[in-house]
Amino acid sequence: SHGETDVEIEDRPPSGVDASVPHSARVYDWWLGGKDNFAVDRAMGSALIEAIPTLRTMAKENRRFVHRVARYLVGEAGIRQFVDVGTGIPTRPNLHEVAQSVAPETRVVYVDNDPIVLAHARALMMSTPEGRSEYIHADLREPEKILVDARLTETLDLTRPVALTLIAVLMLLRDADDPAGKLRTLMDALPSGSYLAITHPTADFNPAEMNAAVAAATQGRMTLVPRSRAEVERFFEGWDLVDPGVVPVMAWRPEDGAPEDPHAAYYWAGLARKP
Ligand code: SAH
Repeated sequence: SHGETDVEIEDRPPSGVDASVPHSARVYDWWLGGKDNFAVDRAMGSALIEAIPTLRTMAKENRRFVHRVARYLVGEAGIRQFVDVGTGIPTRPNLHEVAQSVAPETRVVYVDNDPIVLAHARALMMSTPEGRSEYIHADLREPEKILVDARLTETLDLTRPVALTLIAVLMLLRDADDPAGKLRTLMDALPSGSYLAITHPTADFNPAEMNAAVAAATQGRMTLVPRSRAEVERFFEGWDLVDPGVVPVMAWRPEDGAPEDPHAAYYWAGLARKP
């Protein structure tokens, strides 16, 4: 019952969408049971599931982290502003829905570079009347453009703390794209008391399966760069990691008791506060 009987959407892409090569947002959408994907995405999604049979569960665990970290940031850390880079195709509940269910006045700016996410921006902008959510079509590799975008500067007060979230997106940047440097530009623009949340796939838990996934991705012309715990920790450098630090995503402040096998989802996760 995992989508084998998916109703096929018309394979006619919206403008700017290349349906001839797989794309991360659509592959991920398919794993989560969404309908915004094409044959190439389903083929890539299947090849990756062949490499990592528990991928669908992992994607769901990644989403559960988003919910937990949003509740923590709004409920315990007093955060009322978010910038979420690499948002993905909308999937309920979206980040702003979780955050606004705790504090309706919360403001969220979403950023993604995929035209299919842009096509869904309306769903991402269904804010509470007290709060606000905005969408920026932009690229993490050009952080300066994100920072000067009027939809960001008019939605958020950058003199007050902001939570910056990069959830399952940094693995789509090669080291040559300088993900740490691009991220640092965003981090440096935020005031003291701001937070950074990251999840990132890793080969640390099951090298054979993750390496098979990388091979499948490479063959399908998709970028997938798993990173080690040390590499993920380096993204947070200079900020104070919130307890329990960079840990397997399932072990990050679990809400229904400690997971039986926290290494079952091959992602590192962490949250840090800017001093
Ligand atoms: N954060 C969501 C979706 C992860 S899928 C979640 O974890 O549930 C990764 C998303 O990152 C995709 O929507 C993809 O389009 C986006 N993305 C990939 N490279 C990007 C870049 N350079 N700039 C902005 N977004 C990017």
